[in-house]
Amino acid sequence: MNQPARVTVVGSSNADLAVTMPRLPGPGETLLAHSFTVSPGGKGANQALAAALAGAPTEFIGAVGRDANAEEALRLLREAGVELGRVRTVDGPTGVALISIDDRGENSIAVVPGANGTVTADFVREVGGGDGAAGLGGVVVLQGEIPAEAVEEAVRQAAVGGARVVLNLAPVIELAREAVLAADPLVANEHEAALVLEMLGAPVAADADAETMARELCARGLRSVVITLGAAGSLVAELDRIEHDGGPGQSGEPTLTRVEAVRVSAVDTTGAGDAYTGALAARLAHGDSLVEAAGFAARFSAASVTRPGAQASYPRSLDEVDAL
Ligand code: ATP
Repeated sequence: MNQPARVTVVGSSNADLAVTMPRLPGPGETLLAHSFTVSPGGKGANQALAAALAGAPTEFIGAVGRDANAEEALRLLREAGVELGRVRTVDGPTGVALISIDDRGENSIAVVPGANGTVTADFVREVGGGDGAAGLGGVVVLQGEIPAEAVEEAVRQAAVGGARVVLNLAPVIELAREAVLAADPLVANEHEAALVLEMLGAPVAADADAETMARELCARGLRSVVITLGAAGSLVAELDRIEHDGGPGQSGEPTLTRVEAVRVSAVDTTGAGDAYTGALAARLAHGDSLVEAAGFAARFSAASVTRPGAQASYPRSLDEVDAL
């Protein structure tokens, strides 16, 4: 097998501060909680860990603050051997998610972007080596938890370096049309897919199904789309690569392939989407077709829902993934 390409994730990293309590407190109320845990999170970091555990040489590019949470935010990435040499440390706090969970499993979450908000276009351009330099190669993975200008610049650096862009636009942020259309694939759940269609000027009915949305996204110029459907699996839509090799902006009838989820006893689906995206990127870096990569991602993310937490739940051995 040839050496896999490198996966470069440009995105967010957080420390997730989780408190469990009998019920969520009302305004002005103080409650005694049951427990408190700190664990690493952030969609960028989650996806980078998943890509590394799925077997791709992986780099994470982002920013942390000068505080104690910085170490925790990057801890599992470091343990998994993710390259962190271009993570910037900036003044101010590391991104944090303050998560309150009550006895019924209801939660309320406040996210402080902190250092993630300092990942600017200039920073990404520098990382790509500046204008006229190498850019970013391999497979570049992007999400919506850093400023839009940084995501757009990462897409430009990927074009310079000849990289394939996997764009998981979660949350959906306002991006330049050409940045969205550079995705190959765009990975989105149904809710996000509907919002991206709205952003592209093609709103769909509230009850539009995944097939309709995937076709419409390809008709708007995306080369490939993966819509994740939770326990119902995912849908891969792809335009013919030879007929439509004229670059983004081509349109046509995509081939649709339904990829079943693996039936497992789910304990906690937190971070399943990130597990899926990171694993998909890793297999694309190995040269798999998009449908093959989606099959692997379904097994990898199914393993993750059998354990609690996000990063902590990702499978550490590919034997476990293969066994599914
Ligand atoms: P999140 O925001 O919670 O990370 P998401 O909405 O981005 O999730 P989902 O569609 O819920 O992503 O899940 C991604 C993939 O994970 C699915 O396509 C599926 O393959 C797998 N998955 C999710 N839930 C389950 C489950 N209960 N059983 C098996 N596989 C699952």
